[in-house]
Amino acid sequence: MRTLKFKNGDEMPAIGLGTWKSGPKEVEHAVKYALENGYRHIDCAATYGNEEEVGNAFAEVFEKGAVKREEVWVTSKLWNNAHRKEDVLPALKQTLKDLQLDYLDLYLIHWPVAFKSGLKGFPESDEDYLSLEEVPIIETWNAMIEAKKQGLVKHIGVSNFSSKKMDDLLSKTDDKPEMLQVELHPYLQQNDLIEYCTNKGIHLTAYSPLGSGDRSDDMKAADEPSLLENPTIVKIAKKHGASAGQVLIKWAELRGTAVIPKSTNEGRIVENLQSTGLKLEKEDLEEIAKLDEHFRYVTGEFFVTKGNSYGNIYDE
Ligand code: NDP
Repeated sequence: MRTLKFKNGDEMPAIGLGTWKSGPKEVEHAVKYALENGYRHIDCAATYGNEEEVGNAFAEVFEKGAVKREEVWVTSKLWNNAHRKEDVLPALKQTLKDLQLDYLDLYLIHWPVAFKSGLKGFPESDEDYLSLEEVPIIETWNAMIEAKKQGLVKHIGVSNFSSKKMDDLLSKTDDKPEMLQVELHPYLQQNDLIEYCTNKGIHLTAYSPLGSGDRSDDMKAADEPSLLENPTIVKIAKKHGASAGQVLIKWAELRGTAVIPKSTNEGRIVENLQSTGLKLEKEDLEEIAKLDEHFRYVTGEFFVTKGNSYGNIYDE
């Protein structure tokens, strides 16, 4: 499989398994099944509430010995309730404990949003937030650098940052993020952001590549379009004897990003990895290029309260 190469020579497999919304019982089986069937990249986060179960899967698979820890790329993310400098390492250590690992391959600041330290659950009012003036991203970032120095993580990066927020961070640090993880799929092709990251030597990971259909109803727009049922995607899939999911994953891979489809279903876990074998043609890519409508499934509106400063999170 294609890999994304980092400056120190480390390689991240382009296709990984997403774990958001994967129930604790299901995720343990899904991660085990994925690793036993060729996946070497798992995307986790503290806020998904299932890192302990992902950790059980890692422990069992590594104990058996067929797959070694150093062969698997593990990403996790710092949640918004641990942005203060004194909170970052404890949050990371909890994630390592839950995942039963000594180090992560990649640790990301999950959102450019800060909650009160240690806040449990989701904020309910303005008072539950800290502004980025109170906890500047550079404070959090310097603690991420410290985590790398201590050998707890090999690479550090950010998620859900606009190019404006990236520019701001880059102007304040010599140790720049090596990865930006954002929503990316044919309805949100992010061409400008891809160009920006290419110019700066920053890798991109595409999240919600299949349209994130299993989000709860309160996170969905009433009229949101389906990627998996898009007629162009379905037509291209039929032409190649592939599934719509495989077309979407291959498209992401061909654009040089990593891509992390989530599944807890054995058949779809395998199907998604097998997309590597699919050959999309120039005209397929031209047709998919026309689908861009700058549509986001993950709007970030859930972080907006009346008085906080987290409106227009993507700076657009
Ligand atoms: P995806 O776009 O990966 O879609 C997941 C949905 O697609 C599930 O309902 C899944 O069902 C279904 N599915 C999986 N494979 C197929 C297939 N081949 N054909 C048809 N349906 C399929 O959504 P996510 O939002 O979960 O994004 C992927 C991952 O990205 C997350 O799990 C997470 O790791 C990461 N992420 C990161 C974010 C961030 O803020 N950094 C935000 C959002 C996501 P089933 O399980 O039943 O197969």
